[in-house]
Amino acid sequence: MKSQSTRSSRSKVAIKHRNTRKRAGSEDAEVRPPAAIADMEPTVRQLLKQLGEHPDRNGLRETPKRVAKALTYLTQGYHQDIDTLLNHALFPIQYDEMVIVKDIDFYSLCEHHLLPFFGKCHVGYIPRKHVVGLSKVPRIVDMFSRRLQVQERLTVQIAHTIQEKLNPHGVGVVMEARHLCMSMRGVGKQNTVAVTSEMLGVFRKQQQTRDEFLKLIRHRSVDPD
Ligand SMILES: [Zn+2]
Repeated sequence: MKSQSTRSSRSKVAIKHRNTRKRAGSEDAEVRPPAAIADMEPTVRQLLKQLGEHPDRNGLRETPKRVAKALTYLTQGYHQDIDTLLNHALFPIQYDEMVIVKDIDFYSLCEHHLLPFFGKCHVGYIPRKHVVGLSKVPRIVDMFSRRLQVQERLTVQIAHTIQEKLNPHGVGVVMEARHLCMSMRGVGKQNTVAVTSEMLGVFRKQQQTRDEFLKLIRHRSVDPD
């Protein structure tokens, strides 16, 4: 899955994303300073008490710090900058076929309950003058996922950011997710998957383009290896 292949080939490029991304400590990790984590700890401790727990018992002693760290990590997208993230990753190109990066795993927190929602994101675009390094697409998805979100807005933000930064002929984004606030709280909703999409440019105007995108992201056997 090298971006090289998008330059030399006239055929459609479908990339099945693999989880080779670095986790914590990667170059884009502009996380809050540790002082902010320390600031959160008393709040989490207070919350534990309000839930009827004893924050000083063995299992919970380190919990406020762990929760503060985890929440800081899961919301690090607030402190990332799209232009820094895309730096040196836009390549001029004579290629106007669809580029698809599909099956991008994402994890986000719903802003209504602070519970996770997670699933797959599929992104397609038709370049005008530039392509973006393929590894940057999952990073864009991460940047917006690691905030408090609703799935609809997350989908729109990813699509509009790619449209704005790459100025392609069009962008399509489809997200499929399970929401723990539905499956843990609801009865009989355990297997519900929410699907959202945003289509811009030719993906919105031309049904043929949209259909091709939807067909390619449903096609499960594409594997560049
Ligand atoms: Zn929710």
